[in-house]
Amino acid sequence: MNWQKLDQKNIWHPFSPLSEKPVIQVKKGRGVYLQTIDNRWIMDCISSWWVNTHGHANKQISRAISKQSRKLEQVIFAGFTHEPAVKLSQLLLNLLPENQSKLFFSDDGSTSVEVALKLAIQYWKNLGKPRRKIIAIDGAYHGDTFGSMSVGERGIFNLPFFDFLFEVDFIPFPEGDGANSIAKMREMVSDDTALFIFEPLVQGASGMRMYTPEILDELLGIAKSKDIICIADEVMTGFGRTGKVFASDYLNHDPDIFCLSKGITGGFLPMGVTTVSQKITKTFDATDYAKTFFHGHSYTANPLACAAAVESLKILGNQKCKDQIEMISKKHEEFVSATKVPESIREIRSLGTILRIELRVNDPGYVSMIKEQIYDFFMSRNLLLRPLGHVIYVLPPYVIEPKELKKIYQAIHQFFEELEKK
Ligand SMILES: *Cc1c(COP(=O)(O)O)cnc(C)c1O
Repeated sequence: MNWQKLDQKNIWHPFSPLSEKPVIQVKKGRGVYLQTIDNRWIMDCISSWWVNTHGHANKQISRAISKQSRKLEQVIFAGFTHEPAVKLSQLLLNLLPENQSKLFFSDDGSTSVEVALKLAIQYWKNLGKPRRKIIAIDGAYHGDTFGSMSVGERGIFNLPFFDFLFEVDFIPFPEGDGANSIAKMREMVSDDTALFIFEPLVQGASGMRMYTPEILDELLGIAKSKDIICIADEVMTGFGRTGKVFASDYLNHDPDIFCLSKGITGGFLPMGVTTVSQKITKTFDATDYAKTFFHGHSYTANPLACAAAVESLKILGNQKCKDQIEMISKKHEEFVSATKVPESIREIRSLGTILRIELRVNDPGYVSMIKEQIYDFFMSRNLLLRPLGHVIYVLPPYVIEPKELKKIYQAIHQFFEELEKK
């Protein structure tokens, strides 16, 4: 059977033109590698869209899922609970800032954001003081459902839907010392602003764009002076990516709401979690149906996903994993400081396990012409480095070894040489 042909006939792939070139069939994953049906071993340098934290086919997580599947695969989560969900809630709340007091389960990053937005809006309703305005940051990506699209950058991702998105005010992305964003934030906040949503320290999809904790703290301070609900979308930055468990751990101001997904199950099963502070739960604490949060998903708190997440968090807590995260962060920093930045590069920067390289091009953005050239160059060396337009980034599973990182860095240098030749 030619599965690739059948795939092309039957399946619609995400973020891909329908007529794109044939896809690659993977039969096995092991650590940082993917094995294809024609026995190529491709290094997954981007953790398969930022989800795979502990390497492919991690045995410990795999065993936990298998064990749970023989006990309880799923149960309605209204009026019922189970051990993996409660265990996970304990582990998560222990890791998050102290103000976080409850968590709400959903299915993925987008739904964790939907839940956060709805909770923040209903918070003001429940208080009897409805607020109508929302602030987000230029270049933001919070997901592909309508609410999460609305708080995201208006661009190629959501162009056909502009007319159907709700109104949001955007502050500029903080460049340099962030003075541009801070000034705009001051101007924009009002007693009618319900919420401020942001990707803390790194904007993922817009090209791993980084800004400092000092700037974000300043923005949060301004928001908090008007009691605005601050929502940290840690869907990408969570679970060790930035060198700390959460990017918000670098901040002095605690967000009111956290959105979590991607790395939460170590990349095994989809799951979204939204956590909230007591300030918010208090206003929902009534038998009154008008103050109830009427939201839920069929697979809420799926026991298999919860078991995977519990195991993934256990691994994240091990000294070995912490050492790996530190090693990757250090290697990235060394690469940044040792690399002579060629003319064709606009910025090389890292934060924790994330390394970004922004090329100087005439058409910056997700659909930059150079995207395919980058992808093909690294794939021909069996390195999966799917760029965000003109931005190359490395975001590896934490089990990667120094010699494997070295191989990636060498290939990047070779790519620079290729660019300089032109
Ligand atoms: C990926 C991402 C989302 C959306 O998550 P999905 O699981 O793809 O729905 C939301 N916010 C951020 C910051 C993301 O990186």
